[in-house]
Order: sequence, then structure tokens, then C-alpha cells
Amino acid sequence: MADIVLLNCMTLLTQNDRRDELSGVDIYISDNRVKAIGRNLDTPGTTEKIDCRNKLVIPGLINTHHHFFQTLQRNIPAVQNAKLFDWLVQLYEIWRFLDEKIVYYSSLLGMGELLKTGCTTTTDHHYLYPRSIDGAVIPAMQFKAAGELGIRFSATRGSMSMGKKQGGLPPESVVQDDDDILLQTEEAIRKYHDPSDGSMQQIHVAPCSPFNVSPRVLKESAKLARKHHVRLHTHLCETLDEEKFCLEKFGKRPFALMEDVDWVGPDVWYAHGIYFNDDELQALADYGIGIAHCPASNMRLGSGIARIREMRDLGIAVGLGVDGSASNDTSDLLGELRLALLLQRVKYGADAMTARDVLEMATLGSAKVLGRNDIGSIEVGKVADIAVFDLDKLEYSGALSDPPAAIVFSGYNHGAWMTIVNGRIVVRDYKLVNVDERKIIENSNRLSFQMLKKAGAASVFVPPAYREQ
Ligand SMILES: [Zn+2]
Repeated sequence: MADIVLLNCMTLLTQNDRRDELSGVDIYISDNRVKAIGRNLDTPGTTEKIDCRNKLVIPGLINTHHHFFQTLQRNIPAVQNAKLFDWLVQLYEIWRFLDEKIVYYSSLLGMGELLKTGCTTTTDHHYLYPRSIDGAVIPAMQFKAAGELGIRFSATRGSMSMGKKQGGLPPESVVQDDDDILLQTEEAIRKYHDPSDGSMQQIHVAPCSPFNVSPRVLKESAKLARKHHVRLHTHLCETLDEEKFCLEKFGKRPFALMEDVDWVGPDVWYAHGIYFNDDELQALADYGIGIAHCPASNMRLGSGIARIREMRDLGIAVGLGVDGSASNDTSDLLGELRLALLLQRVKYGADAMTARDVLEMATLGSAKVLGRNDIGSIEVGKVADIAVFDLDKLEYSGALSDPPAAIVFSGYNHGAWMTIVNGRIVVRDYKLVNVDERKIIENSNRLSFQMLKKAGAASVFVPPAYREQ
């Protein structure tokens, strides 16, 4: 692996314990680790020297919630203006046509966008295992895509077991049998999970939500995760419809259901967490549960505003997530920081959330949510996961009196000039290094239209390039 030195950084946001922000330093990277940080480092023989005089250097951002398969269902007219339950019911009819190629290209697309917006570690919550595909193919395709791009990837093995017949939301065609879910989840852990320091691939256990998974699967999943020392992830308290569903079907609030099925503890993180009451917020802190905050999706679906300011004051670990691309509709992680800052200010006022708060959430906060201390900061000995932003641009001009805050408050394309994962440059000059972006664009569009057509969306607009001959 080539040695790299980032020379004379305009600003380095370290996110170390002292939260040092250094100016004029070099960062020396060798074998996948940060080996030295300091002024005028002596690094003879270094293969790649990168001038960072006009650059802001930050720890790679970490995405704690996504659904890659949804990247092929962005901006669909029929659900552009729907709230969660209506949106899901319509999309299930498209998603049941999932196949191997769709998993592969949607994963390349989602992770490619993330890398280009400064993300170096991502999760994905794939909960869709329809009859049209062999379940084992899904993690295989996702890890193949992650390996090709060079991103650090924690897949979360999702599932749905409670179809309409059992009182759940999805059609039977996209739900799996309880025992198949548990068996395939365990197989995926055994095959892919690497718990070591600096791991590039992990698996966690992630039944989809209380309204499409049976309590038995939730309970057995918790046992399985703890047997293998992996983490637990699900959607919780995203909407009032979910709360109503749980009260009607189970006679309890969503969080009480989670306590019943042993889904509480420092190895658990929930996506969204908008509708916790005061007692539940305190319980989250007491149990050490983490939250993946997804402000764009929460605004897009009109779900509500999570109480992130209060969560942080209680010491709850909060990370950021872009959520699936059918409800965002981008994988722009840097853009999510800006939205997180602005949305909390709508609820609590101008001093509720600072640029450094959201930078911390997207780095150290997300790392804590994922139970990792090898990522989230730039320090000697840690893996070299780094995002570099060129601030010598039109969109940052006039904003350089506070470089780290400039990428939160200003900018419009949110692109990282360079992204380094595990000591390798994977985005250079705003482009993915290891894959052909053109091929991803064309295949993603083609597959997206094919799915729409199979689902019977005949009236949808199709650009000439994607019309069949
Ligand atoms: Zn989600």
C-alpha cells in the first residue's frame, strides 16, 4: 500500500479528546493507519504527496442508516407526497421485483454517492428479501460492491416476517418465514462479520420495524446478535402511525415492546426515534442505546422532528444517517449535517445545534453508535479514514474565517475533493477512483425503469435513452 502524506493542511479537524483543530500540519499515512501528525514531517520515500494548503481535512463521515436498494426508487411521482405507511404500501409493489443486479448496482450507487460526500464508513439496512431472489446473494452483492469501491461497510441484515395476513403492513411476497430469517442471518454473520480493529466488513442484526416483524423474530434476533457479539438495529418511533399500530396490536408503546423483546442495551441503535416521551428518553440514556438521526427523511415524509438536542444533553449517543433514497432522495451525507443543524434550530432556537455538534455527530457520534473506537477521529494509530474538502471554491468564498463550519453552513454540491478509506484514495478530484461512474449511472437508470415497468407503472416518463428499441 502506498504511503501518503497530506502536506500543510489549512485546517485539520482531529476530533481527538482535546478536539484539536490544527493549522499548517502534515498527516503521514502508511499501511492503512495514521502514522504521524505534525509540522514539516520528515517522510522520505513517500509515494504520494498531496498539497493541502487550501484544504479542510476531517475524519471520514460515518453513515448509520440507509437502504441502498431504494436508490433506484428515488423521486417516484406516485409517492413524492406520501407519508410513511402509504409510501411503503405502494413501494412494496415495486420492491418485490428485486434481483441480483439491482442489489449490486443500487449498492454501488448508494455507496458511491456516500464516498463522494466524504463518507468513509456506512451501514446498510437491507430488509427486503422477496421470493424473487436467493437471500444469500444479497450480502454477497453488497460486499462485492463495497470491496470494489473501497468503502468500510457494516451491513445490517434486515428482515420482514409479518405480512398482511398476520396484521402487518407488507404483502406476503416480500416477507420471509421466521426460521429462514434467523438461519440466514446467522449464516451471514458467520460468513462476513469481522470484529477486528480496523475491520472493513461487519454484519449486524436488523429486523425492519415493529409493524412488519413479529415479536418472536425480534426476541430471537436479540438472542442471536448477543450470541455472536454483533449489534442490533431497527426503525423505532418514526411516526405516530407506528405508535398507534403498536398500541392497537400489542397494547403498548413501541419502546415498551422493545423492552419486552430484550431490544435494549448499549449494543442497540434505533433509526429515527422521533416520538419518545420524557421517560423513554431517560431510559435510552440509562440503557446506553444509540440513535441514527435522519433529518432529511423525517422532513421528506413529514414524520416530525427528533429531540436530538435533548438526547445529546442526556448523553445519548446520536449518529447521523441519510436513510433510504426513496425518502431522502440522495445519499449526500455532508448535506445531512446541514439539515440536522437547521432542523434542530426550527424546534429549539438558534443556539440549539452548532456546526461542531453536527460534525461530532457524523464522526464520533456515529462511531459510538456502531460500537467502534477505531474510526471517527484523525489520530496517530487509528485507521486512515479521511475526507478532504477544497475550500478554494466559489461556494466557500467569504466563509473561510471558520473552515470546519464552512462545509456545514456553505457549499452547494457537498462533494469531497478527496476521500481516503483505510489508507487508500478512493475519491480523487471529486471522482470515484476504482469504478466507472458512467456504468453505474446507465445501469441504475435502466434497472430502475425495468422495475417500474414490471410493477405496472406504465404512465411514468421515460427519457429517450432508456426507452426500449
Ligand atoms: Zn430507514
